[in-house]
Amino acid sequence: MPKVMLFIDGTWLYYNTSKLSEAYGQQDFRIDFGKLPAVLAETLKKDLPAGEVDIVRTYLFGSYASNYDLRDDDAVQRRRDFFEMLKEEYHYEVEVYPINFMGRRLRKADRDPGDSFEPQEKCVDIALASSLLYMAAVPGAYDIAVVVVGDQDFMPVLQYCRRLGKRVAIASIKGSCSPELSDPRDEARVKDFDIIWLDELLPKLELKYEWHQLQCESPIHKGKREVWTTYHPRKGRKFYCDLCRQEFLKQKQEAQREFVLAFEAKGEGALVGNGVGSSLVGLVTRKFAERGFGFIETGDGKNYFFHLTDLAPGLDFDEVQEGLRVDFEIKKLPSDDRAGAAHNVRRHEVPETARFEA
Ligand SMILES: [Zn+2]
Repeated sequence: MPKVMLFIDGTWLYYNTSKLSEAYGQQDFRIDFGKLPAVLAETLKKDLPAGEVDIVRTYLFGSYASNYDLRDDDAVQRRRDFFEMLKEEYHYEVEVYPINFMGRRLRKADRDPGDSFEPQEKCVDIALASSLLYMAAVPGAYDIAVVVVGDQDFMPVLQYCRRLGKRVAIASIKGSCSPELSDPRDEARVKDFDIIWLDELLPKLELKYEWHQLQCESPIHKGKREVWTTYHPRKGRKFYCDLCRQEFLKQKQEAQREFVLAFEAKGEGALVGNGVGSSLVGLVTRKFAERGFGFIETGDGKNYFFHLTDLAPGLDFDEVQEGLRVDFEIKKLPSDDRAGAAHNVRRHEVPETARFEA
C-alpha cells in the first residue's frame, strides 16, 4: 500500500478559504481539518490501481501574529488554539512561525491609512519545502506527497521531489493556483496526478457546527453559567463565553491604558524587532487578583503584562503568586518606558542538568 504524506501551506489555505466560501455560496464556510486528510486520500485512491493508500503523516505550516495591538488578542488566541487543536486532536505535525506586527492591528483596514507597514511572513514556505525534500530523502518515509499549495514558488521543490522517485499530487483552489502547478499538460513536470480541486470537494470538507452547552469558567461571568456554543475548548483549557471574552478584551485594554500607557513617553517607534515569539524566564512581580492580570519582570528589568487568559493549560490564575518563576513567550515587546505583553505563561521548568547541580 503506498504511503502518503500531506504537506499543507496553512497560510495560503487560510487566506484563500474565502474563495471556497464563494464557490460554496456559504459565507462562513470552514474546512473540517479532521476530515481533510481522509478526503484527499479518498480522491487520490481513484487514480491508483490497488485503490488503497496509507496516510502516514500530515504536516501543516503556518504563522501567527506576534507583537500586535492587544485589541486583536482574541483573534490571535483563537488562531493559536486552532493550531493546538490540529496537534492534539487530529495529530497533525504543526510548524508555525511568528510574524512581527510591530505593535499594530492585524487587519490593514484597522491600521492608519498612511501606515505603509506590511507584515512579513517568515520561514513558512521554506519550512514546507525543506520538510518535503527531507522526508523524500528518508528511506521509506513516503511514496506519494500530497501538497496543498497554490504558489509557483513550490515548483522547484516538487520537481526535485519527483527526481528522488516520489510521486506528487497537488491539491489547490481555483483562482488561487499558479498556472505552472495547475497546467493539465504539466509542462513543468511537477505532478503525477490530475490536480485535486478543493472547490469540488466542499460538501465533504465542510465543518459542521454542532451546538452544545458548556459552563463558562470565567471569574467575571454574570448570570447562568451554562451557555450554548459551537466552540470546543482545547484539552486543559478553560471555556469562556463570548460575553466574557469581550469583557476580557476591554479589561486588557483598560489595564494597558492604566498601568502601561502611564509610562509611555516614546511611543511605538521605540519597539525593536528581535525576540518576538521566543521564550523568556521571569518572576511574577505584581498580581491584581480581583482584576485578573499581573506583571512579570525579566532579568533585564523589563516588565510584561499578562492576563488570566494568557496562562498555558496546567497553570491556574489562583496558583500564580508574586515571586513565582515562569516561562513565557513575548506577545508584545516592551520599549524603554513601556511594558510588553506575555503569552503562554507557564511554571518555569528547571533544566535536567541544573537539577543535578542543585
Ligand atoms: Zn462567561
